[in-house]
Amino acid sequence: MQSSIEVMPSEAMPPVEPSGLPPYRQASRQGHPDETLVRVGQTVIGSPFFTVIAGPCSVENEDQMISTARSVKDAGATILRGGAFKPRTSPYSFQGLGEKGLQLLALARERTGLPVVTEVMDSSDIPLVEAYADMIQVGSRNCQNFSLLKKLGRVQKPVLLKRGLMTTVDEFLMSAEYILASGNPHVVFCERGIRTFETATRNTLDLSAVPVLKERSHLPVIVDPSHAAGNRRWVTPLAKAALAVGADGIMVEAHINPDGALCDGEQSLRPEELKDLVSSLGLMAAFFDREMQAI
Ligand code: PEP
Ligand code: MN
Repeated sequence: MQSSIEVMPSEAMPPVEPSGLPPYRQASRQGHPDETLVRVGQTVIGSPFFTVIAGPCSVENEDQMISTARSVKDAGATILRGGAFKPRTSPYSFQGLGEKGLQLLALARERTGLPVVTEVMDSSDIPLVEAYADMIQVGSRNCQNFSLLKKLGRVQKPVLLKRGLMTTVDEFLMSAEYILASGNPHVVFCERGIRTFETATRNTLDLSAVPVLKERSHLPVIVDPSHAAGNRRWVTPLAKAALAVGADGIMVEAHINPDGALCDGEQSLRPEELKDLVSSLGLMAAFFDREMQAI
């Protein structure tokens, strides 16, 4: 009996090119065997350094941002994060402070000396975000927004590219390739968990993607255990696992008062938890041939 199930056309990757390189030519390790170091302000991300990026999910107000930034610096992290344009599931949730949030990030940088990374959601905001940020984040929901990626290929600032919820490693590599092919070689991958059948955690942290990406690409790879776990209790063990599996750093959410956070408080580390995490990573680093990045 003939099956009535229609086979959907395959979404397979384009074949290996005549040059022998994979279709992610410039991101590929084959054409570029050495590790790439990506400069962010006065610091760099990439092997042998291990970088800790920390900060609140969203910039909320001056007090919250400056006191959180100080605790991030005090813990030993070397890059500050904070969202000014927030991709929220509900249009009624806090959407971020926009330009005011960028100004507060710049103030936090001035007060602490830490470079800042923040998300751009809409390509029309690229010039604004570029003017304030030391590194521009592409959120998971925009990982395959190719017109945004092409435009980020024309900026001078480095890009932190977060993996999409349903993006395969091959697709993730191709997303980076869009930025590289458009002229910006400064890209860092960020594994932040993917959507699976599992609901015990917010997302499933795909730690396997780290050695795979490191093998296939010369670009640095960091891990965001906060958006993967969804709960601060699991952030520390996952961050340690990220170091052990060969990541070049982590990005974690941290807040001066997580219970009062406007966004993602339950997965944000308290100041003392962040400090303990960074010191544990420092102890682990030598064993894994890593140098903790310091400012
Ligand atoms: C974030 O890092 O602020 C964020 C929204 O994460 P993601 O894009 O991974 O969901
Ligand atoms: Mn968040």
